[in-house]
Amino acid sequence: MNPVKFLLSDEALPTQWYNLQADLPEALPPVLHPGTKEPITPDDLAPLFAQALIEQEVSTERWIDIPEPVREILLQWRCTPLYRARRLEKALDTPAKIYYKWEGTSPSGSHKPNTAVPQAYYNRAEGIRKISTETGAGQWGSSLAMACSVFGLECLVYMVKVSYNQKPYRRALMETFGATCIASPSDTTESGRRILKDDPDCTGSLGIAISEAVEIAAKNEDTRYCLGSVLNHVLLHQTVIGLECQKQMEMADDYPDVIVGCTGGGSNYAGICFPFLGEKLRGGRGVRLLAVEPAACPTLTKGPLAYDFGDTAHLTPLVKMHTLGSGFVPAGFHSGGLRYHGMAPLVSHVLDLGLSEARAINQLECFASGVTFAKAEGIIPAPEATHAIAGAIQEANRCKEEGRTETILFNLCGHGHFDMQAYIDYHAGKLRDYDYPQEEIAMALAGLPKV
Ligand SMILES: *Cc1c(COP(=O)(O)O)cnc(C)c1O
Repeated sequence: MNPVKFLLSDEALPTQWYNLQADLPEALPPVLHPGTKEPITPDDLAPLFAQALIEQEVSTERWIDIPEPVREILLQWRCTPLYRARRLEKALDTPAKIYYKWEGTSPSGSHKPNTAVPQAYYNRAEGIRKISTETGAGQWGSSLAMACSVFGLECLVYMVKVSYNQKPYRRALMETFGATCIASPSDTTESGRRILKDDPDCTGSLGIAISEAVEIAAKNEDTRYCLGSVLNHVLLHQTVIGLECQKQMEMADDYPDVIVGCTGGGSNYAGICFPFLGEKLRGGRGVRLLAVEPAACPTLTKGPLAYDFGDTAHLTPLVKMHTLGSGFVPAGFHSGGLRYHGMAPLVSHVLDLGLSEARAINQLECFASGVTFAKAEGIIPAPEATHAIAGAIQEANRCKEEGRTETILFNLCGHGHFDMQAYIDYHAGKLRDYDYPQEEIAMALAGLPKV
């Protein structure tokens, strides 16, 4: 067997997703209605989401069937490879064994199609004609646009304005797949017009773009909203990553001591970690889970665990999560996909229960780690993914100091082919580190809704 590349056959693609909610020692806190502050009902969500997705959102079934038409499409690029990073290990001179799961082989180059495909499928199956969504740097928008084109759905994407202007390539991907892409804030929604009235030059944020997309779904009978991260059903769909990894680690005759992932909204991290965590909670082997986030958007490490809105205009239900406040507008650093003010309730809960760790790392260290990785392994990582690499390298260096032969597994969640401007800026010395100021965090705390 190839000692560095672990490939699974098509038959090994999971037939069911794994739902961590079945094995949690303590149930998730309820999602609250923004008006009444009472737990919401599935009916409250019906105007926004497909019924099947609402059911998955609240399900406590351990295993949920993946529909066959979804598996057929996932098979185009799944199962994805697991690699042993022998050359990186050598470059680091570490006794640790490092493995990475490579999710950059999907049509849009990241893990996001794993959930875009089932979300489009369920909406189509329920007779919905049009999907609205938001996107930051464009990874989610391009993934959903691809899935919508496969299932014959119209796709409307609100793209954060600064990215819309600075990152035309993923916008071109979306338009190639037939989606309509609008710079947010826009004058096409009430939420957008309100923001533009106060600040005509507003460059946008994910929170604002979510408000616009949610408003469109709420106001149109034939339209539903899709979200690319954060929600339970999104994390569920991403568990194909970890389920495959479990089989691949077995092929490698190894088991991770620590699993590392980057966290924006938490979906790729949950996707690789939760199947292993479930095994641990059911009495299996111990494993450490390490979430790495940017120091400039330190949701898990500095944001309080509190009920907050998912969007800026306060149209969404209240969810209990680590948050920097729904008014958060991040500093201009490059990891577009890691700039959301909140974090998946499940990832927040797991941290709160002491089942996961979190660490914030500055972007210069992340890019340096990404370049070290690229030179050794020949793959250009997405700027988001460099956070997972930086975390894995810190762990490998710790193993070296302690003289321990641990096994490190990390999720290489996407390639950086459309993010080369960030690398150009890094090489030119134009990037700087930015710590999210303590005063801003205090302000965010003060602005949280009273529950
Ligand atoms: C969207 C994205 C992320 C952040 O989202 P998560 O839900 O935290 O996974 C990270 N990496 C890449 C490549 C992305 O496209």
